[in-house]
Amino acid sequence: MISLKENWQNILETVKNEYSIKEMLFKTWLAPLTIIEVTEKDLVLGYPTSESMEMDESFLTSHIMKHYGLQLKVAIEEVTGVSYNLKVKLIGSEEKKPEKAPAVSHINSNINEIYTFSNFVVGSNNRFAQQAALAVAETPGELYNPLYIYGGPGLGKTHLLHAIGNYILEENPNTKVLYVTSETFTNEVIESMRTSNVNTKAMTNFREKYRMVDVLMIDDIQFIIGKEQTQEEFFHTFNALKEAKKQIIITSDQSPKEMKTLEERFRTRFEMGLMADIGLPEYELRMAILQKKAEEKNFKLSDEVINYIATNVKTNIRELEGALNKLLAVSRLTNTEVTIEIAMKELQNIIDPDKPREITPQTIIEIVCEHFSVTLDQMTGKSRSNDISRPRQIAMYLCKTMTECSLEVIGSFLGGRNHSTIIHGVQKIADEYEIDQDLKTQIDVIKKKIRPS
Ligand code: ADP
Ligand code: MG
Repeated sequence: MISLKENWQNILETVKNEYSIKEMLFKTWLAPLTIIEVTEKDLVLGYPTSESMEMDESFLTSHIMKHYGLQLKVAIEEVTGVSYNLKVKLIGSEEKKPEKAPAVSHINSNINEIYTFSNFVVGSNNRFAQQAALAVAETPGELYNPLYIYGGPGLGKTHLLHAIGNYILEENPNTKVLYVTSETFTNEVIESMRTSNVNTKAMTNFREKYRMVDVLMIDDIQFIIGKEQTQEEFFHTFNALKEAKKQIIITSDQSPKEMKTLEERFRTRFEMGLMADIGLPEYELRMAILQKKAEEKNFKLSDEVINYIATNVKTNIRELEGALNKLLAVSRLTNTEVTIEIAMKELQNIIDPDKPREITPQTIIEIVCEHFSVTLDQMTGKSRSNDISRPRQIAMYLCKTMTECSLEVIGSFLGGRNHSTIIHGVQKIADEYEIDQDLKTQIDVIKKKIRPS
């Protein structure tokens, strides 16, 4: 057997050449890899890290495995004739190779690896936004600042933000990327203000956190508009970052022009950068997305059924996926192929040609469960722990304010609770809603999820 260790550099070079891996990516991800352990079947590679850096370990190893694992495996097999099970493990600085490995720092970016440019399907409605996003990802901070992406719900704004984040981190893992929803941003402002009398540094810490980043993404900015303190903090953060040529990316459901209550100082600043809208997806894009997602999930679906979904779910890609997932669940559960008749029956709730989707207690409860990561069983069950009873009361409040249902009906959806329990829950949340900004934000966000437009 040809020695793996002696040939290690060759193998890495082979991977680089055969797959045309860019120099920067090669230097960052492959060159630092060393062999730690070889057995008959298993090969453990080490990726050096510097202890002084705080980082998310699993991000690094899974990133390397995901992007280069297969290539490495194939190249190793070509040279040695052995098909190893590969594993990458982080090694501390004392085990580092003599030559200096790139320092990798990774603040918690909140970037979700599953949303990338490669799985973003492009059509005429989103092409400009995709190009703008990619251009910013390639040269963050330089050209288009801020980038402002807007469009209706479920059309891919958040997906593009994560795609930018993943691209930047892959090119240069040292970049400090930070993704936050405006809900998180608002909560952090409130939290810093609340604690600033006991912790005099709270506000400074908050500001430092946001001003040290290279790329700041704020998702759904419309939710901070009108919240004075949060807006004020955002304004200063924005100015500081912009002046330091750091990239700012914002999404919203509307253009700055359409946002009636947006203050002039924000409007001018947002319009200084690049604005890109995402419109409604055309039929071809809807088909393409369905086909791609079905393929990813290994789900065989007839063209007739795919066409049925694409023809009927027109305005929201999240719902398009929702329809597909529903059929997938049905198909796995019953272990049968989904016929057009089954599709029509199962998708009745989602597809309604005439009227907007009816808001039912069921819908509300499901969305509240999802929002708070509570199961339906917990929601309808007996537990009175705060983590569960609070979401339950919020669900009561939303059912009461967003539907016409009687308290009895709402109670029956919530595990058969009686009329006075529901009144109590609704009233409690209604009272707090008036005075608790934190709660108000949260409820506004959930409402938006329930009634997206
Ligand atoms: P928004 O933030 O605009 O409300 P999201 O980015 O959350 O929408 O998108 C909703 C869902 O639709 C996500 O699962 C996303 O991956 C998917 N999606 C949206 N646009 C596309 C696209 N062009 N290609 C593939 N998936 C998409
Ligand atoms: Mg979004």
